[in-house]
Amino acid sequence: MEKIVVLDGYTENPGDLSWDELGQLGDLTVYDRTPADKIIERIGNAAYVYTNKTPITKQTIHACPHLKFIGVLATGYNVIDVQAAKEKNIIVSNIPTYGTQAVSQYVFALLLEICHHVAHHCTAVYEGRWTSNPDWCFWDYPLIELAGKTLGVIGFGRIGQSTAKIAQALGMNVIAYDEYKSDEGRKLASYVPLETLYKQSDVISLHVPLFPSTEGMINRHSIEKMKNNVIIINTSRGPLVKEDDMAEALNSGKVYYYAADVVSSEPILKTNPLLKAKNCIITPHIAWAPKESRQRLMNIAVDNLKHFLKGTPVNIVNS
Ligand code: NAD
Repeated sequence: MEKIVVLDGYTENPGDLSWDELGQLGDLTVYDRTPADKIIERIGNAAYVYTNKTPITKQTIHACPHLKFIGVLATGYNVIDVQAAKEKNIIVSNIPTYGTQAVSQYVFALLLEICHHVAHHCTAVYEGRWTSNPDWCFWDYPLIELAGKTLGVIGFGRIGQSTAKIAQALGMNVIAYDEYKSDEGRKLASYVPLETLYKQSDVISLHVPLFPSTEGMINRHSIEKMKNNVIIINTSRGPLVKEDDMAEALNSGKVYYYAADVVSSEPILKTNPLLKAKNCIITPHIAWAPKESRQRLMNIAVDNLKHFLKGTPVNIVNS
């Protein structure tokens, strides 16, 4: 039986899923995490390896001559030197999509928190403030109704469109910006130029991938073009936003709230300027992680190796 090694399985399966199906395809070893100096040793003479964020460099590929298949437990595969893999005839397979519903749902977990501050008001009740309140109700933040407000979606692909559907159910008007326009997208919202989206949106949700062309696209110049008191939600990638500029815009009140599930460097650095900015919500990259979503990811990961073993590889990113 060939060996299968999972280098960093913990975030995909912290214990609530099963690796058994993968284990039926070979002699499986799952590591929660693998430090850089143990990668080559742990892959050893395995034929199949899975990674989520652990890098597989050219040096590793050359040092592990038995490798035939690298599975990514994610969509992004920038941690792998796919060219070096190709030169060694190693197939690299990714998970093209698994979390569309989970991520779009999470956009509204963030947005509704800004609209209602549920956690804050609940804490206030448990601290006794309602009991001692002179009136029958109180609130500490402006409460916001979304119906009638405009949501601008930047990047109108799978997650962007799913976000639009939820927004419409809440009565929001949706406009979208995308480099490529699809018929499906046209049915859901009006495509507008980016400048128009900045000008008209009460809430902006980012769903473009991180490319050199999108890195830092939300900066002091683009923020200047937005409505005063705009709300910005980022569940895509941290580096889309220049965090120094965002912190400044939050502190000046130009941006009312920034809610981010992703930041420029993860885990977040102590020095991240957002940690000291006002009106900022930051969560530790969890939009993708409901169990249902991770189970889907696991199923596709197993399926990728099954297809490879049958000689019909799928989801290849280095063909
Ligand atoms: P997708 O490929 O379906 O959609 C991306 C859209 O962006 C496409 O329509 C594409 O045309 C558009 N686009 C690309 N470059 C553009 C540009 N320069 N300007 C304007 N539009 C551009 O991807 P998706 O499945 O919707 O995922 C979107 C992003 O969500 C991913 O790239 C990833 O960064 C992020 N994501 C985050 C999490 C999380 O846990 N927070 C989980 C999954 C995905």
